[in-house]
Amino acid sequence: EIEIRGLHKSFGDNHVLRGIDLDVARGEVVCVIGPSGSGKSTLLRCVNLLEEPSRGRVLVGGTELTDPDVDIDAARRRIGMVFQQFNLFPHVSVTGNLTLPQRRVLGRGKAEALAVARENLERVGLAGKADAYPAQLSGGQQQRVAIARALSMGPEVMLFDEPTSALDPELVGEVLSVMRVLAGEGMTMMVVTHEMSFAREVADRVVFMDGGVVVEQGPAEQVVTRPARERTRDFLNRVL
Ligand code: ATP
Ligand code: MG
Repeated sequence: EIEIRGLHKSFGDNHVLRGIDLDVARGEVVCVIGPSGSGKSTLLRCVNLLEEPSRGRVLVGGTELTDPDVDIDAARRRIGMVFQQFNLFPHVSVTGNLTLPQRRVLGRGKAEALAVARENLERVGLAGKADAYPAQLSGGQQQRVAIARALSMGPEVMLFDEPTSALDPELVGEVLSVMRVLAGEGMTMMVVTHEMSFAREVADRVVFMDGGVVVEQGPAEQVVTRPARERTRDFLNRVL
């Protein structure tokens, strides 16, 4: 579903991504771990072209996003993204947050957008908060709204960049459990996370990045509990 080939990204003379090759199969959940500054966010942002790769190719669902002739807006609609900061529209209700992008970007009518919004609020367990404003919700609820908003666009793949890092510890679980359900439904997911227990339980594969390269990858159980590489072991010793 996602194919990354020879991906490089530099910011000025800061060579951040140094040749990433990575595949995520349909329905697969891949967790990306690694130290701060290793390029995890840059990698995700290159997958949906929030950052333009300096070199290499990115394909999603067979469409090459790095092809200069591709309709990038159309291609990007197939990719949902959830950030550490929820980025909800503060001045509209939860329902508005879910319906506005559907109407503006997908051109859906009001009734359809509303039906899709309801369905996805239900999915994240927030049907009762449809009329609330973001500021009236906890961080965990806001992040679940952000997930529902991304799902309302009908993405083929979902990218998560440390979706629980901004949350108080007691609110992390509710967001992870929504992600767990999504994974169980067969959503293709790429998740940058520090939640090693989530990675171990939910990820089909864990990718350890350091210095802009993939140092090690494999089944979650193997990479997290029996890493083959010294750099992976050092990192895990620091975070676990
Ligand atoms: P963290 O765990 O702290 O989120 P990360 O692995 O996500 O780290 P990135 O955010 O991808 O790391 O950053 C990797 C490097 O790229 C850093 O040196 C950072 O300063 C640089 N960088 C990221 N985005 C930009 C940008 N828009 N402009 C310039 N430099 C950037
Ligand atoms: Mg980051």
